[in-house]
Amino acid sequence: MPLLVVALLVPTLVGPNGVWALAAVSVFTAVTVMVTVRVGVLDDRQFVLLGSGGMAGVAVSAFVIVDPASTTAVGAMLAVVPAIAASGSSRHITVALTAVAIALATAVCIDETVGTVRLVAVGATVTTVLVPTVLMASLRSRVSAVTSRLEDLADTDPLTRLLNRRGLTARAAAMLDQACISAVPLLVCLVDIDHFKSVNDQFGHAVGDDVLVEVAATLHAVAGPDALVARLGGEEFLVVGLTSVMGGVEGTILAAMRETGTVTVSVGVVRCTVVSDDEVNDPWSAVDSLTATADRALYAAKSSGRDQAAYVLAESLSWSGAAVGGRGRPVFDSGHPRSQVGRPSTKR
Ligand code: GH3
Ligand code: MG
Ligand code: MG
Repeated sequence: MPLLVVALLVPTLVGPNGVWALAAVSVFTAVTVMVTVRVGVLDDRQFVLLGSGGMAGVAVSAFVIVDPASTTAVGAMLAVVPAIAASGSSRHITVALTAVAIALATAVCIDETVGTVRLVAVGATVTTVLVPTVLMASLRSRVSAVTSRLEDLADTDPLTRLLNRRGLTARAAAMLDQACISAVPLLVCLVDIDHFKSVNDQFGHAVGDDVLVEVAATLHAVAGPDALVARLGGEEFLVVGLTSVMGGVEGTILAAMRETGTVTVSVGVVRCTVVSDDEVNDPWSAVDSLTATADRALYAAKSSGRDQAAYVLAESLSWSGAAVGGRGRPVFDSGHPRSQVGRPSTKR
């Protein structure tokens, strides 16, 4: 836009009708700025439209300027749009805008040069466009690799490599959606190691840690790939899955732990129907509600002598299904779930 002012002050800067061309470019630039400020973050379509227009504006400005050095300097601005695309747009849009920028920049410098100089100018022009674009693309890919590694770490318990509460919650929404849509009840098992404190007291914390890792591996193996298995903290684990693939898993967990001969566990089991309610879609509350209910069953299993499962039956949980939007807390339809204590078997 300042070019227009300079061209008005020094008319010899541009060729015939150059001022009108710069005026048109300035109007387009002003519109671009206003749209960007108003929209905030442009989507791919808007960016392609305004970015292509911006590059055309740069090319027109470079063409109408008479002085070759100024033309080259203005032409170098063609590198800006592909570099911005590399920072946020999809790969094919970045490639397409880079190709357009190189074509326009080459056309500008070919127009200004002859012979060997032209060859050098084209090489320099292509480099000017490519280097910032490639650097930006590589920076973006590194940032996204680091971000995804950090997300993994934030979702994982460092000792057992199981999901932590945050990781469980992040994945719980998809499982609740699945249960809601398929109308298959969820099975939630809260697993707590029996007398774990005495393991630490007798053998030390390092051995206690090894036991936690062993229990985690057993739960992971028993629950199978379709279940979510998390360490909620201390010596407490949660296993969540659809009853269609997890039916009777608490019995398998108890048997597998007895088989290891290291420690036994107690299991609080909730069998929960998930019913659709558009208002309720907070997975943190859903996980908290399920854990609190399973905890009541766990307490019953502990009170009845440990190394066994206890059940809460006929629960139902409201959830928004796969719907998007709406906020609220998941609610159980029964404020006082009926607990049934006993070894796992016939009631499944
Ligand atoms: P209960 O059968 O009633 O569950 O008894 P418990 O001894 O298993 O339960 P309690 O809550 O009394 O003790 C849990 C112990 O777990 C106490 C704590 O030191 C230990 N603990 C918690 N986190 C870790 C950990 O990361 N590593 C080790 N080694 N111990 C842990
Ligand atoms: Mg315990
Ligand atoms: Mg405990």
